Amino acid sequence: LVLGLTACSGGGAGSDGGDGGGDADAAPEDMTVGVAMPTQTYERWLNDGASVEEGLEELGYTADLQFADDDIPTQQQQIDQMITQEYDALIIASIDGSALTSQLDAAAAADIPVISYDRLLTNSENVDFYVTFDNFAVGQEQANALLYGLGVFDENFEEAEDAPEETLNVELFAGSLDDNNARFFWDGAMDVLEPYIEDGTLAVPSGQTTIDQAATQRWEQETAQERMENLLTSDYRGEEELHGVLSPADPLSRGIINALRSAGMGDDIESGLPIVTGQDAEIASVSLIAEGVQHSTIFKDTRNLADEAVNAADAFLNGEEPEANDTESYDNGSAVIPSYLLPVEMILEENYEEILVDSDFYTEEQVESGQ
Ligand code: BGC
Repeated sequence: LVLGLTACSGGGAGSDGGDGGGDADAAPEDMTVGVAMPTQTYERWLNDGASVEEGLEELGYTADLQFADDDIPTQQQQIDQMITQEYDALIIASIDGSALTSQLDAAAAADIPVISYDRLLTNSENVDFYVTFDNFAVGQEQANALLYGLGVFDENFEEAEDAPEETLNVELFAGSLDDNNARFFWDGAMDVLEPYIEDGTLAVPSGQTTIDQAATQRWEQETAQERMENLLTSDYRGEEELHGVLSPADPLSRGIINALRSAGMGDDIESGLPIVTGQDAEIASVSLIAEGVQHSTIFKDTRNLADEAVNAADAFLNGEEPEANDTESYDNGSAVIPSYLLPVEMILEENYEEILVDSDFYTEEQVESGQ
């Protein structure tokens, strides 16, 4: 029995006892986990990085946290170095999910377990685990929020009895095409919106209804703002009204709102500003939601995602396999990656206090100041 147990604890993934990779006999104090994050321009990645670092250190590991300024070669170099330094595990939130295949090959050759963080690493079998949110549900919730804000849905997210009779004009924005999540958000949103576009409840006056047309390279706020300005100039010059905008992330939402406000489309929803969705519950956007400017966002509790990533790393480093709750949704082109998906929540003016303030994610003062 004792022998059996010993053999078992030494036999899991990444635990061959080599220099790299999890050595089930080594103490956390002797192990370093590399944490590669895409950028510091989005508030969430700063929070993610800090939470992952803290969680690893609580368990006794050393964490090396790196941000890559949304620059692919920088991220490749950072990960190359983590591998050269024989780190014991890697947690990676990629910029371009398909640009790290040679790093993933090298990690596998050195028996370093790799956890794909929030964004799926693609085109490689050498991804051991994926922690993320239910990304399809994010898109569905964004669309539900949009239809609710437009009055098509009631507060139970069912078709409202007093829905507007006129056709409602919307414009659609998507994220960066090199981020696998962008397609999930888009597909989730279109799953809800398409029937309403088809039956004429909604119209998209620009005619830009494909993800390629709606995409925002590298998730840049200015790019979204410019596209909104261009759409307003080309398609909303005359009598045409704009009622809503599907936006997949809060910084893009704020860029879109800047464009709408500058074009005189209202200062807040009450004074005619179109319904704009979002994602991430960034403090600046939650503040706009509290003021009735941005209509909604999707809250993804990154504290929980960081915990799942840390637990997965800890499992590998103890010669075990982390527990997946989804083993079918995330095919990365080379393999279906065992995943752990976390739930998401829609945030509106009427529930931000309950969900974000009561849970200590933000204080009321932060919401008031927007910082
Ligand atoms: C994340 C979103 C984020 C976006 C831009 C996506 O991969 O899931 O939370 O808003 O990237 O950084």
